[in-house]
Amino acid sequence: MSRSAHPAGPRHADVLPEGHALPAPEDLNFLDPKVWSKTTERRAADGVVTVAGLDVRELAQEFGTPAYILDEDDIRERCRAWKDAFAGSDVFYAGKAFLCRALVKWIAEEGLNLDVCSSGELAVALSAGMDPARIAFHGNNKSAADITRAIEAGVGRIIVDSYEEIARVAFAAERHGVVQKVLVRVTVGVEAHTHEFIATAHEDQKFGLSVADGKAAEAVRRILKLGSLELLGLHSHIGSQIFDTAGFEVSARRVVALLAAIRDEHGVQLPEIDLGGGLGIAYTSADDPKQPSDIARELVDIVKRECAAADLDVPRLSVEPGRAIAGPSTFTLYEVGTVKQLEGLRTYVSVDGGMSDNIRTALYDAEYAVSLVSRASDAEPMLSRVVGKHCESGDIVVRDAYLPADLGPGDLVAVPATGAYCRSMASNYNHITRPPVVAVKDGQARVVVRRETEDDLLRLDVG
Ligand SMILES: *Cc1c(COP(=O)(O)O)cnc(C)c1O
Repeated sequence: MSRSAHPAGPRHADVLPEGHALPAPEDLNFLDPKVWSKTTERRAADGVVTVAGLDVRELAQEFGTPAYILDEDDIRERCRAWKDAFAGSDVFYAGKAFLCRALVKWIAEEGLNLDVCSSGELAVALSAGMDPARIAFHGNNKSAADITRAIEAGVGRIIVDSYEEIARVAFAAERHGVVQKVLVRVTVGVEAHTHEFIATAHEDQKFGLSVADGKAAEAVRRILKLGSLELLGLHSHIGSQIFDTAGFEVSARRVVALLAAIRDEHGVQLPEIDLGGGLGIAYTSADDPKQPSDIARELVDIVKRECAAADLDVPRLSVEPGRAIAGPSTFTLYEVGTVKQLEGLRTYVSVDGGMSDNIRTALYDAEYAVSLVSRASDAEPMLSRVVGKHCESGDIVVRDAYLPADLGPGDLVAVPATGAYCRSMASNYNHITRPPVVAVKDGQARVVVRRETEDDLLRLDVG
């Protein structure tokens, strides 16, 4: 079950135990810059929160709630930070975290490449004018149609995940008269979540070809015999919401060992390795993510060290941050509908969205922060659970957080760090229409993904 493997630690007890570890914050009005986007601040004059200089009450008025509010300066700055930190390496933004045409343009302008893992993501990227040579195509079960589409588009690299796929890509490339660049997705027996990683002898997961059982080496053998494939190197992705580079160290060591084995067996040194994504962000003040510059230094050092030990030339390195680029850029703006107090227990605050716009809490027990944003408040902190409007008691947006005790219907609350894996995983459960993504910059707001309408729902339902 997904719960037992989720990245944010064990499931909380249903009710916080006596003397629980969630202390009330000293100042409920404080917006921790670690979890809020760059231009989000609380205006001193009236306590209202603004982003890119825009009053959240006006954003709610104009665009409705719930809405994802995306801070363009924030996301562009993160792209630049990763690009600069990894100068001499390649940064691929993992589009599955969040993808829309505006974002593709920003990514391209800031010099990042793009990972896609479906024909749909590829279509969005191409329609926004992304250079196909800068696109990498991932996925453990790409269809023949996906592969043909990718090859026709001229994607720069396909990350092959199985023997079947090696044959399919080779066949499609041959038919199109091209030599397709590929990397082999290898599993290195490392699974990293948050601060810990688990190293196992053989790995129980659907992705990739195992280094330990020789399947990765066999994949390399097969590819090297095929004239329509050019093997660029090896790819490893070990997990998500990782705060520590220890897992990457083990991964890099095993990938480099395989590169050395390939050199010894075939007399070729593959030019690239890709260590994947997975770098963590701060969802709450308790999280302490590393800066891209520190991550870059550590990863580059690890690869250099492992290569020196194996007497290999240092290959070109790629990384694939998704969450670390998109996550902190966005908050979800909700309106409070009802407040239900359970004496001595907690208060349920119902907002006008829920698991359809943020499934991560229900799916992974993810933790989030939440703040009252339409005004400041001096009221006492009240232990709250922010829930949605779906017909499901697991419809929880923020499991445990403090909100001011004078919170009431009509107040606006916002949940920060919802830029990754929220809109991209959004659903129509209960036929609720998915919220818009509103990009804000320099006092201007514009819809980059519009709100779904009932007409959109009915258009698919052909009766
Ligand atoms: C999901 C994924 C990423 C991005 O992961 P984040 O946790 O968002 O950084 C990168 N590479 C691959 C292959 C992935 O599957």
